[in-house]
Amino acid sequence: MVDETLIVPGQEVYFMAAFTISLENGSYDKLDNFDSFDVIVLGGGPAGIAASTTAAEKGHRTLLIERLGFCGGAAVSGMSGTICGLYNSVEDPEAAQPQQIIFGFAERMRRALDIENGLTPPQIYGKTWVATHDCATYKKVATDLLRTAGVNILYHTEMVDVVMEDKTICGLILHTRSGFCKVRGKRFIDCSGDADIIFRSGLTTTKGNNGVIQNPSMMFKVGNVDVGRYLAYWGSDTISPPKVVDKLEKRKELIRKKVWLFPTVNPGEVLVNGTKITGFDGRALDVTNPVDHSEAEQFSIYQAKEFFKFLKEEIPGFTNAYFIDYAPEVGVRQTRTISGVDTLINNDVVTAKKRKDSIARSSWPIELHYGSKPKTEWLIDDYYDVPFGSLVPSEGHNIIVAGRCLSAEHEALASCRVTAQCFEYGRAAALATDVSLSANLNYQKIDGNQIADLMHDEGYSEGGLIF
Ligand SMILES: Cc1cc2nc3c(=O)[nH]c(=O)nc-3n(C[C@H](O)[C@H](O)[C@H](O)COP(=O)(O)OP(=O)(O)OC[C@H]3O[C@@H](n4cnc5c(N)ncnc54)[C@H](O)[C@@H]3O)c2cc1C
Repeated sequence: MVDETLIVPGQEVYFMAAFTISLENGSYDKLDNFDSFDVIVLGGGPAGIAASTTAAEKGHRTLLIERLGFCGGAAVSGMSGTICGLYNSVEDPEAAQPQQIIFGFAERMRRALDIENGLTPPQIYGKTWVATHDCATYKKVATDLLRTAGVNILYHTEMVDVVMEDKTICGLILHTRSGFCKVRGKRFIDCSGDADIIFRSGLTTTKGNNGVIQNPSMMFKVGNVDVGRYLAYWGSDTISPPKVVDKLEKRKELIRKKVWLFPTVNPGEVLVNGTKITGFDGRALDVTNPVDHSEAEQFSIYQAKEFFKFLKEEIPGFTNAYFIDYAPEVGVRQTRTISGVDTLINNDVVTAKKRKDSIARSSWPIELHYGSKPKTEWLIDDYYDVPFGSLVPSEGHNIIVAGRCLSAEHEALASCRVTAQCFEYGRAAALATDVSLSANLNYQKIDGNQIADLMHDEGYSEGGLIF
């Protein structure tokens, strides 16, 4: 038995012993080859899929570590369900055609999902559009990309600690079904969403607005919906119309009063983003606390079922619907963010700030889930740029982040965290890692303009769609 209280950075002898025991048992032959990598990516969400695929395609020996048995992160395990952030925002989407504003890896995923019939055409969401993905197809497409690129994958493996030498991260401690082991790496890309490597390394992280973070949601899917009838009542906007909000206001048992519904690629199937998850006592939860996280999962069960009851009773087309399933886990929007060499601030978003060191454009609104009605603040006919430096922690030489844990102020994060942009953060982190390895540079020394140029040359905009 392993005493978990012994898990502290630097106890290499202990961890090597655990590793050796595993090898003696004969079950770690493969893991023996996993001892040292050029690039280690933690987390197989949108950012991690893009980062590890791109790093491996650049010729680096890359390991992807994921605690679950599949990739997709919140987009699959949380069934978050749509690719947001692909398109522009306009005053009246009914009278306009969507224009895609971000390409690169986001376009690669969009196209791959589309080819496999796993993505809807653009659907109106307020003043922009989204495309709803099928989670099974997402898993398949991600697996194809990672395997074709030659990424080494460790599923069912959790990173539980870091090994530091002279303030430099040189390895990670992993927990597997056969015990603990250690992997070494030259560069680390933290795509855990929670900035787990950064946190375990003792580097600075913050949480939301003075610790107040957005609420989680439990997504679920419903089958046998008369989609024609429901759309005739609901309208073409996936966001609830005022008459539905009025009905929700009358339901005391439902704590969220503005919701989204997405018809999927499967006939009669609707994805429901309709819950707000708190504690049973109504308190805001912080899911980095396992007690809060466990309570979130339990509270989710009841809120989702109550919302399904509401749909059946109140929304035309749902009378004969059945509950397909909850998402595998509660969807987490926000936990820790890093303190970066640059930070996307709220004002950058609302003033549509453009930057030379841009790694991604975004026209997604500030979509802040706090209170009974999520707040959406739109950026019409414009976009802002996300700076490269928001991925680079101000301390720690050989680590970079990608995804929703980037350095951003609270409301800015509520805009820039969506998946089209997360794909591009992953690609940018991998391109920067390529530069860091080949020029032997700390991430802090890398010129953001150079990464912006590489992003553009390798598929950033319409003009540069090169794969
Ligand atoms: C309810 C909800 C609805 C949403 N709706 C949409 C939407 O419609 N469209 C959209 O584009 N975005 C949506 N989002 C946002 C989007 O899903 C996330 O922001 C995005 O998935 C973040 O990507 P990521 O790669 O940064 O992290 P994540 O998707 O969170 O992935 C992180 C991965 O790291 C793994 N991991 C974490 N720690 C460890 C560890 N220590 N060891 C091993 N593995 C680890 C996790 O298992 C996970 O797979 C939604 C989010 C939520 C919660």
